[in-house]
Amino acid sequence: MRKVVVIGGGAAGMMAAVTAARLGASVTLFEKNEKLGKKLYITGKGRCNVTNACDADTFIDHVVTNPRFLYSSFGKFNNWDMYDFLEQQGLSLQIERGDRVFPASNKSSDVIRTMQNAMDRAGVQWHLHTAVHSLWMEPWKEPVLPDGQSAEEGTSGSPEGVIASEKSTRKGRKIHGREAHAEKSRYTGACRGVVLENGKKIPADAVIVATGGLSYPTTGSTGDGYEFARSAGMEVTPCCPSLVPFDAVIGENILCRELQGLSLRNVAVTVSDEAKLLYSGFGEMLFTHFGVSGPLMLSASSEVTRQMHQNGKPLPLVIDLKPALSRQQLDARFLREFKAGANRHMKNVLGAVYPSKLVPVMLRLSGISPEVCAREVTRGEREKLLDITKNLPVTLLRTRGFSEAIITQGGVVVREIDPASMESRRVSGLYFAGEVLDVDAYTGGFNLQVAWTTGYAAGNAAAKKGTE
Ligand SMILES: Cc1cc2nc3c(=O)[nH]c(=O)nc-3n(C[C@H](O)[C@H](O)[C@H](O)COP(=O)(O)OP(=O)(O)OC[C@H]3O[C@@H](n4cnc5c(N)ncnc54)[C@H](O)[C@@H]3O)c2cc1C
Repeated sequence: MRKVVVIGGGAAGMMAAVTAARLGASVTLFEKNEKLGKKLYITGKGRCNVTNACDADTFIDHVVTNPRFLYSSFGKFNNWDMYDFLEQQGLSLQIERGDRVFPASNKSSDVIRTMQNAMDRAGVQWHLHTAVHSLWMEPWKEPVLPDGQSAEEGTSGSPEGVIASEKSTRKGRKIHGREAHAEKSRYTGACRGVVLENGKKIPADAVIVATGGLSYPTTGSTGDGYEFARSAGMEVTPCCPSLVPFDAVIGENILCRELQGLSLRNVAVTVSDEAKLLYSGFGEMLFTHFGVSGPLMLSASSEVTRQMHQNGKPLPLVIDLKPALSRQQLDARFLREFKAGANRHMKNVLGAVYPSKLVPVMLRLSGISPEVCAREVTRGEREKLLDITKNLPVTLLRTRGFSEAIITQGGVVVREIDPASMESRRVSGLYFAGEVLDVDAYTGGFNLQVAWTTGYAAGNAAAKKGTE
């Protein structure tokens, strides 16, 4: 019977474990937290948007980084397979606006319970409060354990093995720079199992790394999988927070705090870098005490986060507050409003055009006094108001950090991974699934589906390898 070890009890890990166990493998899952699915619990504002009920092309269109890597695994286990899987496990689902799929109970805890029950039924042994410290790799090399003790064998372990992780040098001899690089490049071969934080070695025929990324680290995603990958000589692209709000100012210096809580619906936005358009979208955004957030801004972050993190340069965001109106139509609207309220102050007249919180900011940016009567507004002032209504300038200073990011952009380089099996091309017996991979998508249930799909592929291949 093949022994499969899964590192991480999130979406990808639980799906990998169920899949491998159903195929007859002896599966052990290690989760460092006190419970399974800690991140799943907070998804979809506690309701868990488990997947999206779209067609395959739409699904792939919503994957931002490395969509093509998913073709093969998605072909074997897609969003509808996940839908059926959950319903077969007794979880009723409902499809909402934007084809988002939620449990009918609106409780993410029901998704976790469903996955846990599926693991139990399939015979997965899962252990909480159990952090994996490092991978146990071939070729043989003198092991260095966390506290310097000698390695204790697991139940049927081989005397051969090497503990391959930069973490393994934490309390042992430290290696740096070139030496570390040379050390890493030697770690090719096969993965023989894992070493737990307590020093215990657990042998396995296959190890699936499903440790998540770096977002919301309090849920357990602290980047351990990247270290495991690097220690196995694999490449990891730099990680940045994505699906994340921005620190921002309106114009050059008006604090967004003035508009805190203001939600703008049906606006069109663009983010560009000089002449190059980086993002354009239509929908809803929100002003916060620090900057801008909401669905449009989260999507925009997916397209610009890497660039912002690479060069640290602010980017201009331009908001069209009235995208349904041409400039001429908007001018005609202004003229109507100004005529109807000819003797009223502009601060009151503009209340018919913009949300009340926005009025003082629009007046300031257009240089019109709030106390001036509508009939006194000059053509030039009206033109200026038109300009900023169609092109409200906001400066995106930087993205917020990982603690506020829904997903990590970057991760284990996908060309190092076989896209059908999720096995490392460099290290036999070592598999990766979920957010630890350099794959990320927009909101809408797509990121969880990436975890289910890649988890399924890894579990399937890990259980079957060498048996077909
Ligand atoms: C606030 C928020 C809301 C979200 N909402 C949605 C949504 O509604 N729909 C959607 O599609 N996506 C959503 N996402 C994204 C989604 O949660 C992730 O894409 C998904 O959880 C990734 O699954 P994963 O299994 O790869 O990683 P994780 O869910 O992060 O699981 C990794 C697990 O590995 C464990 N682990 C890590 N290192 C070790 C170690 N060394 N030893 C043992 N265990 C370890 C961690 O404790 C963790 O439990 C949301 C994310 C956030 C932060």
